[in-house]
Amino acid sequence: MAQEVKVRAFFGNLYLSYQPLLKAGALLSVNGLVVMAGESKAVEGACKALSGCEEVDLPGRAAGPGFIDSHLHLTGLGLQLNTLDLRSVRSIAELRDKVRAFLQERNPPVLIARGWDHERMAERRFVTRFDVDDLVSDRPAVLVRICGHVGTLNTYAMRQLGIDRLRGSPDVVVDERGELTGVVREDVLLKALRALEPPPEQYMSYVADAARLLLSQGVTTVGFMNVPLRLLTGLLSEARRMMLRMRLYLDVDALGLLEGLGLAGGFGNEWVKVMGVKVFADGSLGARTALLSEPYEDAPGERGKQNVSVEELSEIMSRASRLGLDVAVHAIGDGALDLFLAARAASGAEARVEHASLVRDDQLPGLRGVRVSVQPMFVIEDRGWLKGRLGARRLGLAYRFRSIVASGAIVGLSTDAPVEPTDPWLTVYAAVTRGQGEGCELAKVTPEERLTVPEALHLYTAGSAAVLKDPLIGSLTPGHLADIAVFSQDPLEVSEPADLRTIRNVATFVGGERASGP
Ligand code: ZN
Repeated sequence: MAQEVKVRAFFGNLYLSYQPLLKAGALLSVNGLVVMAGESKAVEGACKALSGCEEVDLPGRAAGPGFIDSHLHLTGLGLQLNTLDLRSVRSIAELRDKVRAFLQERNPPVLIARGWDHERMAERRFVTRFDVDDLVSDRPAVLVRICGHVGTLNTYAMRQLGIDRLRGSPDVVVDERGELTGVVREDVLLKALRALEPPPEQYMSYVADAARLLLSQGVTTVGFMNVPLRLLTGLLSEARRMMLRMRLYLDVDALGLLEGLGLAGGFGNEWVKVMGVKVFADGSLGARTALLSEPYEDAPGERGKQNVSVEELSEIMSRASRLGLDVAVHAIGDGALDLFLAARAASGAEARVEHASLVRDDQLPGLRGVRVSVQPMFVIEDRGWLKGRLGARRLGLAYRFRSIVASGAIVGLSTDAPVEPTDPWLTVYAAVTRGQGEGCELAKVTPEERLTVPEALHLYTAGSAAVLKDPLIGSLTPGHLADIAVFSQDPLEVSEPADLRTIRNVATFVGGERASGP
């Protein structure tokens, strides 16, 4: 039986790639794959010669390869779209107002809220169960801090989850009277979230919401971190329908299961692939759990939290590489990067680094050939407290995007959504300006770490594709998938870097099919 062949010619001001800078007036795709790109006359001629070829005039002023967000949390993002967003709260009273209004409006079976940041709240302390118990007494509630490493449970949730039994654990916080505050960290928080999260069918509809948002912003592929195992079959069957390409990283606990199944790396297809597992080497700078080689400036004696030993990490990397699976190692502090580099040397296995927020000069040579996913928006988001954590001397080691690229690392950009917003133009803006307009000290301390617009766009497309080890995406030259993002303005023609933020995504095509826009 003959299969339907879909031939499309796209006309517009097209960037095929940003490094090298290649432009074209049109491209031709056959069954979702770019087969020709060049002057519009030539492509038009080819289109006319092929029966059934459809001509598409791209709206907008320019277009390029779809953005690839190399590290985000699709479940967290979907949840955020369906749960209470606390990022704007500046006091406990405001937080309480939001909780009250949300319960009235949505009446959810479980209250899940995310985004409070004590550094930005008047009280400058963690939220406790005593702040919310009177508002939510008849159902579980969990209020996750912006970093995702700390959260607050109400008394109902604490009882339901038996948190009392974990008393004494460093991840269960008690007050000076020895009473549980409801504040839990790291593993305890992750387990609580797992226990309280919605059933798979509902969760898949949240993921679909997240996919729609990303496509509307021109993101066509994501590195999906910490995929819950129970969503795996749903994702494998639904990604194509959602039209978002997903590259999956499961929690490290799933490694044994993957070994048992004998699942080889890259299991899946061009829409969805099981890449490997994600391991946390440390926590976050905001919560002072990122592992530093020297103590925090604002917490003498504290160096953060080491979640895994060199031996454990190297063992995980060896096991994964035997199966051809990837390992994404969350390493924010320079201490965690030391740990990664040691594990890499010990195992001889390849893996990728997530964040690399703090990198010393002596660590740069070790990054050669290592895949690294960085989040430019952290520069802007962390501006209020970064110097406090690190001190003036170490501030220059933070978010060294250009140095990391120059080290020979393979760098991709990402948002870590829902930690940062998914709009790629905010990330490009942050990478290019280093938050100069927001008064970020990093713009003054390390202006040389700023990226140019083509560099940022290159890392957000081809760079991220390389981090995800995917040769079919990140470029629109022939042989690549026709994943196209259409922009309201030509990003290489903006007069002021600040204007990058005003660029809107007009339409998105994935595999040559319209995924968003008119
Ligand atoms: Zn993350």
